[in-house]
Amino acid sequence: MQDTSRPIVLISGAGVAGPALAFWLERCGIEPVLIETAPTLRTDGYMIDFWGVGYDVAEIMGLLPQLKRLSYDMSEVRFVDDAGRTAGGFSADLLRSAVGGRYFSIPRSDLAGEIYRSLEGRVETIFGDSITSIEQDDAAVRVTFHHAAPRQVDLVIGADGLHSRVRQLVFGPEADFEKYLGYYVASFTVEGYPHRDEGDFVSYGVPGRQIARYALRGNRTAFFFNWAEDRKLPFDHRDVVAQKELLAQRFGGAGWETDAILAMLPSCSDLYFDSVSQIRMDRWSTGRVALLGDAAFCPSLLAGQGTAFAMIAAYVLAGELDRAHGDFARAFKNYDTTLRTFIESKQQSASRFGSWLVPRTKGGLFLRNQVTRLMSLPFVGDWMMRSAFSDNFTLPGYRIGRAAPNASAGQGAAS
Ligand SMILES: Cc1cc2nc3c(=O)[nH]c(=O)nc-3n(C[C@H](O)[C@H](O)[C@H](O)COP(=O)(O)OP(=O)(O)OC[C@H]3O[C@@H](n4cnc5c(N)ncnc54)[C@H](O)[C@@H]3O)c2cc1C
Repeated sequence: MQDTSRPIVLISGAGVAGPALAFWLERCGIEPVLIETAPTLRTDGYMIDFWGVGYDVAEIMGLLPQLKRLSYDMSEVRFVDDAGRTAGGFSADLLRSAVGGRYFSIPRSDLAGEIYRSLEGRVETIFGDSITSIEQDDAAVRVTFHHAAPRQVDLVIGADGLHSRVRQLVFGPEADFEKYLGYYVASFTVEGYPHRDEGDFVSYGVPGRQIARYALRGNRTAFFFNWAEDRKLPFDHRDVVAQKELLAQRFGGAGWETDAILAMLPSCSDLYFDSVSQIRMDRWSTGRVALLGDAAFCPSLLAGQGTAFAMIAAYVLAGELDRAHGDFARAFKNYDTTLRTFIESKQQSASRFGSWLVPRTKGGLFLRNQVTRLMSLPFVGDWMMRSAFSDNFTLPGYRIGRAAPNASAGQGAAS
């Protein structure tokens, strides 16, 4: 039952950004309603690294204990040759020490799931539906859906990812905002893969292709594929059969364990497959509609911090809406000014990282592996990690942050 005295914000997308925003809005007397196209929370199997100011936000939200229980402590990133011998890599301790131990790896679905569980039962969520039209004027936004009855709400937030429906309906076609970075990514998990190397992120490369595995609990293994494609592939990003065929074609016969891994592909049910792209927009709002997370500023997996940015942005957007006391135009403007420089500089660094992740030549692969070996030298690895992993951003100290369950914790929050 909706409380008609509270402003209502419809949030499209129950990934990371959407539930994080709902978490904060609920605390400042605004009623969030989530709508998610999937029939339940998504469980696609890719791992993420989690650190920086986003880690501080998770701490203020009081989520760290649960997240740490679900997380993995990586021991080593190891690049191997065709025979499985170490060709490069570095200890994950370097990474942890660069961020004062405030770092872990976790399946994206577990992070999203924990944020959602923190508000489950208190926030209305419509699963298995999607927005079909958005019309706004000075007084309200009118929204229609595939299945649900039309609604009138105060604001609409598109937190529906890289292929945002809200962005497409209100701001224009995806192609107007997408910057394709020249790579594709796929990931899936299976049970019973025989090679484990617990704690190690084991990665094998040939020019233009990189494949990696990481052992999960319950005898499961997560696999990652990254490869270079000069142009975007002309097929539907939801066509799983075509995706599996393409993956087998691009990686078949590449060497190391590749064929054994590809043999598991037909039985996987959680394939993630997409282009490596960024979303770059001059503004993240228009009237009563704003975008958040990947929908607004997808940094791509090359940033290694998209979930952290989504959580930071959710906190800032809610904090500004709370501060603005109903002046949503001011809130949206401040949301943009507070985050833009930080996000854009991260997008720029990420777009340069592809050739390190997937070198396109034998020489490039050799060089990448040798550089990672140098990281074990005293001070060198530490210096490299600190420069790559620092967040030049101070979390604003909003009233909502102080009202949260673990308000004293966030180290980055300015008072
Ligand atoms: C392979 C890979 C590795 C990555 N590694 C890292 C990493 O190491 N560290 C890190 O921090 N980030 C990483 N990222 C990035 C990170 O996953 C994203 O930046 C983050 O998930 C963005 O959160 P979001 O909530 O904005 O979008 P998403 O997590 O994509 O959630 C969007 C939600 O919207 C839903 N949706 C889509 N369309 C509609 C619609 N029409 N109506 C309603 N709902 C809809 C989707 O089902 C989904 O639930 C990685 C990404 C990839 C692909």
